[in-house]
Amino acid sequence: MRIVVDRDRCEGLGMCEAMAHEFFELDDAEVMHVLDESPGEAHRAQLSAAVQSCPVLALSLQG
Ligand code: SF4
Repeated sequence: MRIVVDRDRCEGLGMCEAMAHEFFELDDAEVMHVLDESPGEAHRAQLSAAVQSCPVLALSLQG
């Protein structure tokens, strides 16, 4: 599974970080960084919740 970020949409709102801080981190400039782009299957439920929490639909899971 791969975490895909649409950088044109992401506004650095941080919902994803709140839902899954192991995988998403906002820096001081409110730019979001994916900490692990290829997480294991065990994290799918948590990451799906994070994807759905993004207000601007900038996140998706591939695979
Ligand atoms: S919740 Fe969406 S807009 Fe906010 S930082 Fe995450 S990907 Fe970007």
